[in-house]
Amino acid sequence: MNTFPAWLATESDSGPVVSRTELTTDDLMDGDVTVKVEYSGLNYKDGLAMVKTAMIIRKPPLIPGIDLAGTVTHSDSDSFKPGDRVVLTGYGIGERFNGGYTGVARVKSEWLVPLPDGMSTRQAMAIGTAGFTAMLCVLALENHGIKPEDGEILVTGAAGGVGSIALAVLHKLGYSVTATTGRMQESDYLKKLGADNILDRSEFSEKARPLAKERWAGAIDVAGGFTLANVLSQVKTGGAVAACGLAESMDLPTSVAPFILRGISLHGIDSVTCPMQTRLIAWQRLGTDLDMDILESMSSEIGFEEIPEAAVAILKGQIRGRTIVKIPD
Ligand code: NDP
Repeated sequence: MNTFPAWLATESDSGPVVSRTELTTDDLMDGDVTVKVEYSGLNYKDGLAMVKTAMIIRKPPLIPGIDLAGTVTHSDSDSFKPGDRVVLTGYGIGERFNGGYTGVARVKSEWLVPLPDGMSTRQAMAIGTAGFTAMLCVLALENHGIKPEDGEILVTGAAGGVGSIALAVLHKLGYSVTATTGRMQESDYLKKLGADNILDRSEFSEKARPLAKERWAGAIDVAGGFTLANVLSQVKTGGAVAACGLAESMDLPTSVAPFILRGISLHGIDSVTCPMQTRLIAWQRLGTDLDMDILESMSSEIGFEEIPEAAVAILKGQIRGRTIVKIPD
């Protein structure tokens, strides 16, 4: 029987550990569609799954990798046929179900999104969960009614995956964007993506006042903690924040003041449980509202064997933009 490469979390005396292995289709979970995986990606959560495995993968054996893109090779579903190019993020893959660090995946058809016209599987994984989440954040601000003429949008953690793609999309949509970063040496990079202004993230890292000067029409936050509390205190009356991350902290040390005295809204973003209707809209919008040359410029490709090293780097905040994982043929 044909084998294919995979990373696999298995139980050890010291808890779950991830190692490189070869699998066959008999090792895969049940599902009605089989996909030849061409690319996966590296997200913060993948870094945790590879390095601090027990935090993400509770029940080994399990293949890590929260994203995959590839071509359907077998389908028992009427929705997909061999040759279809598909992308899969969320639904618990790489956490509760087998993920994308594998040559072949067997999955549920209702999890799959057909690739938008003109988008390659490599571009889909340059976007990945991080870019999909960035688009969900942009949609939340749009649905709140925030328009480019309403004022500046703040994006935190701008040199990371979600932040970089949020910047690029907002810029293409005509918003004026301020980026915060702990890496001021990446200012040129952030300007090329579309940042109009760049602030050192230390301005947001101290305890927040209940209300501060009104600065932002809206914001996208990947950090949580004091950063999100400071952002909330600076959003203009009637504005909104889309919160998707905890890069600084899971805590939110704020008060009700921004909500009851300025009527601002906090939109929670969860890419894992996002309904399919919204997924389809977000992927279509990524196909039209993200400049693919800019996407390429913020992306680096690594080989399958380099995943563990890159996982350590993303946890240290050393990865810029997006990392694509090439799955061996
Ligand atoms: P990255 O690691 O690529 O980027 C995170 C960025 O956050 C870093 O690059 C850094 O940006 C910034 N950052 C790191 N530490 C701190 C800190 N202490 N205070 C403030 N900012 C900090 O991760 P992703 O972009 O992939 O993900 C960002 C966050 O969003 C993560 O917490 C992730 O778990 C979460 N996430 C949530 C999803 C959801 O569905 N809700 C989906 C995807 C991600 P800089 O160097 O510019 O300061």
